[in-house]
Amino acid sequence: MFHPMRPEILFPLYAPITSLKGVGARVAPLLEKLAGPIVRDVLFLRPHSVIRREVATVSTATEGAVQIFEVEIDAYKRPRSPQQPWRVETYDGTGVLSLVFFGSFGGQLEAKHPVGAKRLVSGKVERFGLNLQIAHPDYFLPLDRAADIPLFEAVYPATAGLPARTVRKFAQEALSRAPHLPEWQDSAWLVQERFPSWIEALRAVHGPTSEADLSPLSPAARRLAYDELLAHQLAMAQRKAERRTEAAPAIGASELAARIAADLPYELTGAQQRALADIRRDLAAGERMSRLLQGDVGSGKTVVAMLAMADVSGGGQSALMAPTEILARQHYETISGPLSEHGVTVVLLTGRDKGAARAEKLRALALGAAQVAVGTHALFQDEVAFQNLQLAVIDEQHRFGVAERQRLQAKGAATHLIAMSATPIPRTLELTIYGDLDVSRIDEKPPGRTPVATRAVPMSRLAEVEARLRQVVTQGAQAFWICPLVSESELVDLKAAEKRAEELRAQLGPSVGLVHGKMSGPEKDAVMADFADGKIGVLVATTVVEVGVNVPNATIMVIEQAERFGLAQLHQLRGRVGRGSRESACVLLYDPPLSETAQKRLDILRRTDDGFLIAETDLELRGGGDALGLRQSGFPAYVFADPAAHRDLIAAAGDDARMIVGRDPDLTSERGRALQVLQELFDWRPASPLKDAG
Ligand code: ADP
Ligand code: MG
Repeated sequence: MFHPMRPEILFPLYAPITSLKGVGARVAPLLEKLAGPIVRDVLFLRPHSVIRREVATVSTATEGAVQIFEVEIDAYKRPRSPQQPWRVETYDGTGVLSLVFFGSFGGQLEAKHPVGAKRLVSGKVERFGLNLQIAHPDYFLPLDRAADIPLFEAVYPATAGLPARTVRKFAQEALSRAPHLPEWQDSAWLVQERFPSWIEALRAVHGPTSEADLSPLSPAARRLAYDELLAHQLAMAQRKAERRTEAAPAIGASELAARIAADLPYELTGAQQRALADIRRDLAAGERMSRLLQGDVGSGKTVVAMLAMADVSGGGQSALMAPTEILARQHYETISGPLSEHGVTVVLLTGRDKGAARAEKLRALALGAAQVAVGTHALFQDEVAFQNLQLAVIDEQHRFGVAERQRLQAKGAATHLIAMSATPIPRTLELTIYGDLDVSRIDEKPPGRTPVATRAVPMSRLAEVEARLRQVVTQGAQAFWICPLVSESELVDLKAAEKRAEELRAQLGPSVGLVHGKMSGPEKDAVMADFADGKIGVLVATTVVEVGVNVPNATIMVIEQAERFGLAQLHQLRGRVGRGSRESACVLLYDPPLSETAQKRLDILRRTDDGFLIAETDLELRGGGDALGLRQSGFPAYVFADPAAHRDLIAAAGDDARMIVGRDPDLTSERGRALQVLQELFDWRPASPLKDAG
């Protein structure tokens, strides 16, 4: 790939991995799978543990320790059956040590290490009866090769066909190729945090001498994490600053919106009013707005967006895009009434529109006869043109690719953006996911909602749950039944969901539906629509339940193997119910015994329904381990930075990035030029949109 911007100093790191000694046609694909295609990726591998070796004698050997002995080979004992190992008896002047080898290569061993030869041998010391032994020594070498046995050996991730020790060799070579780079961090900050230089940090990471050196909290690990976070924050801050310089239509708060708001059967909550005020400040500023509206399902984001669209419709057009047909329809139903009553024309455009009706809608948008478009992916197709698109609203924004969002925005000159998300992100992580957006949080629910009664129930009481379900469904209630994705194979999971659906059908009759990830979009939509219309009583689903779908009549949510889901996910699933005024319930079925963490996670769900609080707790409980939930919500795939362990660094990097962009937006100062190298190093350039949410 040709990169005109890449500084020459980084060329050695951008060489293909095949330039490393020993990486040929066989090894390259394995190493690429493990690390990546270039030397930099191998340099960025990290050991997960360290073996500490010490020199010892047999008489003072420590069981369980990895030790090095200088021995003379006494005798070979053949196995009496193929299941038995070869035993090599050795003596070091203080005692006898047996070396044990399973497998059929004893003959080769004897040729290489004949009786009478002196050898260095290293491995974990075990006791076998009265004797000490080492099974499969990790080193077995002539005396003159003592230097080949490291006293501290970093253990790298391995893969079939590529053992950890070979990976270590490649990592060491990559390290030897790492150049000295100009310092891009602020020197006072380096001192304050006791950060080593970049190259020293890498050396420390690749040369651990204790468990502590492997900790994400070691100065070296923190330094590298901070580098990575700063590179990313800087790219986002630059992008944000760039967008600010784009002039966009200045739009004032309108009479029309005030009349629509006055006609609503409720008052906006304080949080809704604050979010609307944020949006109006942006819209009036004459700069392009990029604002994220974050709030739980049902917190009233759509209404806020609708009022902003009303402001726009005095002189321009707006578009509201949702990821599915059914969501688009629901939005259309929510907003077209209030808007059209006050003279705003709204059209619904989805993939189902065909022929003359579609042509008519397209004409209305192109000529400006319609001021608001609600729709799906159909909205950003080439044939769709707007007379004057000024505002794009994107619901469940993470369900769209960056390119898709941009295609919609590109239908106007400098289109303002409202992105909406119902995935609660802990405040500390907001920066990493939405660093280039301004964020408004709707952290208050409209009044009159009854909280969802949440219970954790062991799987052994499944029959009770089913019986209770039969009772309420007979009385007209509706329920979701979620089956987790647990196995490696989607097909196996699908079978489990099908089986559950059958079983429930046997108990509850035909009104049990099934929706899963292997179904096509229209198939899913059809089942969801039947559920929304009340034709289906119990909807069994793998985790595809469309985010945001509103089925007010659904009052029960059963989640099987709840312990396997992330907290944020459980919270979102629970958010599908409790949307009407009727009492609703969430049953978290689990397979006992629960781990302490799993217990805590289910507990917090029982105690609160505040998505932001739940998200913060989730982050604390996961302690940097399973990042699955975060990945799903758009958390970047960092190499060094850990969302839990490096939380404090995220905020610092955000501040640092804003300050840098404020002082030196084009990165032309000495530090600025070093920072450009940093951005290259981590591939976070202002124009690398595919890796994040911007
Ligand atoms: P979101 O898009 O955040 O999921 P919606 O905007 O669709 O939420 O609102 C969910 C439901 O709550 C809608 O039926 C809406 O009419 C209603 N609603 C919104 N704001 C309020 C409010 N302030 N008071 C009462 N009901 C509200
Ligand atoms: Mg919504």
